[in-house]
Amino acid sequence: MNAGIGAANRAQPMQHVSTRGAAPPLDFRGATLAGLASDGGLYVPERWPRLEADAFRRLRTARYTETAVAVLAPFVGAALGARELEALVEEAYAGFAHAAVTPLVQLDHRHWLLELHHGPTLAFKDLALQLLGRLFAHFLQDERAPLTIIGATSGDTGSAAIAAVAGLPGMRIVMLHPEGRVSEVQRRQMTTVEAANVHNIAVAGSFDDAQAIVKALFNDARFRARHRLSAVNSINWARLAAQVVYYVHAAVRLGAPDAPVAFAVPTGNFGDVFAGYVASRMGLPVSALIVATNENDILARALARGDYSRGALTPTASPSMDIQVSSNFERLLFDLHGRDAEALAAAMAGFEASGRMAIPEPLRAEAARLFRPARVDGGEMAETLAHAHAATGQLLDPHTGVGLAAARRLEAEIDGPIVTLATAHAAKFPAAVEAATGVFPMLPGRVAGIFDRPERFTRLPAETAAVAAFIDGLGA
Ligand SMILES: *Cc1c(COP(=O)(O)O)cnc(C)c1O
Repeated sequence: MNAGIGAANRAQPMQHVSTRGAAPPLDFRGATLAGLASDGGLYVPERWPRLEADAFRRLRTARYTETAVAVLAPFVGAALGARELEALVEEAYAGFAHAAVTPLVQLDHRHWLLELHHGPTLAFKDLALQLLGRLFAHFLQDERAPLTIIGATSGDTGSAAIAAVAGLPGMRIVMLHPEGRVSEVQRRQMTTVEAANVHNIAVAGSFDDAQAIVKALFNDARFRARHRLSAVNSINWARLAAQVVYYVHAAVRLGAPDAPVAFAVPTGNFGDVFAGYVASRMGLPVSALIVATNENDILARALARGDYSRGALTPTASPSMDIQVSSNFERLLFDLHGRDAEALAAAMAGFEASGRMAIPEPLRAEAARLFRPARVDGGEMAETLAHAHAATGQLLDPHTGVGLAAARRLEAEIDGPIVTLATAHAAKFPAAVEAATGVFPMLPGRVAGIFDRPERFTRLPAETAAVAAFIDGLGA
C-alpha cells in the first residue's frame, strides 16, 4: 500500500508554526496534542508539501486508506513510522458502513455528491475524528497524566469527537453544546454514550458562547497545564489534514490531475473548505471551492466584499453552520498576509476587540480566485432538497442542501464536474427533511439505539468560571 508516497517526502521533517508567530514550532505530534497554539493562534505546516501529477494518478484506483497514507505522510513527517500511520488509518476507517468509505454519487451530468456520512455518527466529522482519537491514543501511550479534551460543538463535532474518544485510555472528553440548539439526534448521539471518560455540558447560550468559553480556558495557562487541555474541534490541525484526503480521493476519480474539479462545501467554521484549499496547494487541480453558507453569512460577506464582521446569530435548519465567527478563516488569512504572523496577529487582535475586520481588496481578490461565496437561505435550501428528491430519489440533509443549492447557482461560472460534499445523513435532521420533501428519513439501524438509552449531561450557565469549576471537580 505505497501508492504515491515519495520516500524522500516522508523523510523530511515537518514543523508546524502558529498563525500568530509567538508559539513554539511543533512537529506533527506536538501540533496534534496542542490543538490551539499557546499564543492564541492556529497551527499550520511551515510549508505546503506538493504531490507530483503521477502521485495523484496512482491514486485513481487506490482504496481510501491508501489515499489517506499518501496524503498524510508528508504532513506527519517523522512523527509516525510508515507502518504506524498505515495501521492507524486502517483502524480509523474500518468501522465505516460503506466499503468505499466516501462514495461518489452522480446526480446529473455536472453534479456529484461526495457522501461523507458513512461513519459512526453519520456526519463528515467522523472522517477526521476517528483518526484523531487514535492519533491521540498512540501519541500518549507512554504518558501517565491524563489529557482533558475539551470542545464546543454546534452539533456534529461533539458526537463525532465523543465517538472517537469514548473508552480510550489516557484521556477524557468534556463537550459543550448550546442547550436547545442541536437536534435531538445530535444531542442523543452525545448524551447516550456510556463511557466514564465522556462528560457533556449543555450551556445556556449560543455556540459562539460555548466556543468563547473553550478559548478562554485554553488561554488560561495555569488551568490549561493543570488539566493538560487539548482540543479536537476543527482548530486542531491534524483534523484538517485528515479532511484533505477525501478531496484528493474524489478528484482523482473525476479526472484530476489531468482535469480540474470543483467542490461545493457547506461551511461553518471554515475547516472543511480549508482542507480543500490545502488539497489545491498540494497540487490538486481545484477549479473552485464554493463556500456555501446559510443565513449566518460572515464568510460570504468576507469573500464577496471584504467585510469580515460578526452579526447576530440566526438559528437555521442547518445548525452545524450557525456560527458567526469561523475560526479556521484565520489560517487562510495567514496565507493571504504572505504568512506574516505579526501582521496577522495585529489584524486578529483588532477583530477580537471590535468584532470586525476589513480585508484589504488585493487579499480578498486573491482569495476570490479560488473561493466562491454563496449565501443560501432556508427557502432555497428546502427547494433544493425537494428538487433533488424528485429528480434523483436522493434524500439530502439540510447542510448538504445548502451546498447543492450553491453549486447549482454557480454552475454556469465553473468548468467541469462539481462535487457537493454531503456532510451529514438526512436522518440527523428528520424534521427539516420531511418538511421539504414529505419523506421522513429513517436512521440506519446501526445507530437507532440512541432512542432507547438514558441521557447523561450537566446544565451550566454560559460562564467560563462555571465550566472551569466543573472540570476542576472531575479531579486530576
Ligand atoms: C460541521 C459541519 C459543517 C461545517 O463544517 P466546517 O468545517 O465547520 O466549515 C457542515 N455540515 C455539517 C453536517 C457539519 O457537521
